[in-house]
Amino acid sequence: AEAEETVLRTTGLTKRFGAFTAVDRVDLAVDRGEFRSVIGPNGAGKTTLFNLISGAMTPTEGTITLSGADVTDRSPAERVGANLARSFQLTTVFNGLSVRENLRLAAQARDFGGMSAARRLFADPDGFEGINGRTDTVLDDLGLRPVADAQASDLSYGDRRRLEVGLVLATDPEVVLLDEPTAGMSGDETDATIALFEDVLAEQTVVLVEHNVDLVMRVSDRITTLNAGQVVATGTPEEIAADDRVRDAYLGG
Ligand code: ADP
Repeated sequence: AEAEETVLRTTGLTKRFGAFTAVDRVDLAVDRGEFRSVIGPNGAGKTTLFNLISGAMTPTEGTITLSGADVTDRSPAERVGANLARSFQLTTVFNGLSVRENLRLAAQARDFGGMSAARRLFADPDGFEGINGRTDTVLDDLGLRPVADAQASDLSYGDRRRLEVGLVLATDPEVVLLDEPTAGMSGDETDATIALFEDVLAEQTVVLVEHNVDLVMRVSDRITTLNAGQVVATGTPEEIAADDRVRDAYLGG
């Protein structure tokens, strides 16, 4: 077998707010197909790290590469347009549109990038075939076919969450970024979301930023623990659970 391919890499990634260092020389290497979670106590720098990777914030120092390309200076939209990453923060459910229309829009966002749909259609008349194909695949993968023509505003809570995941997958991303996707959910909803991740995101490269340690222990291949902006440890859930430095970070944090 070939060596694992690193899809997402951060090198010396640092974000300072004035004299305060929120993310401090973070090196991450996430392999293709890996489910990586980032945990840490409040204020550890998880959200800031997520914002740096998604492009919502510019690092003070360090670099970010996706599939070997340096994206440090690219905007969030350019990171998506370059087929590189996609996050919930960048997707919107349009309530007035059907499930299928929402998915088509997400699929187009990737294919058309900044170009208008009409211009792109002239440039690539076959483009819509790919969009239809990807829309159908996502409808089936997520069990949304029965509600394909329902208006998004009429969806049950569970179907709406599935549609949000579907919007991410419709862009056929290289890396899926998830920012506390179960925040505000009940236990049952959280369990359903975890099952969905295990099902639908199994093949994807995922970076999950999350404070729910139980969830992270269940779904992750590897976990990176942050404290005070720095990486404390990276390892499998078993390794992290047994790591004294991780325990100290939480109890001392
Ligand atoms: P976490 O998500 O792990 O709770 P954050 O990344 O939100 O941590 O925050 C890390 C630290 O950076 C916190 O001390 C927070 O107050 C600080 N911080 C985050 N964003 C800003 C900002 N825009 N300006 C100043 N300080 C910030």
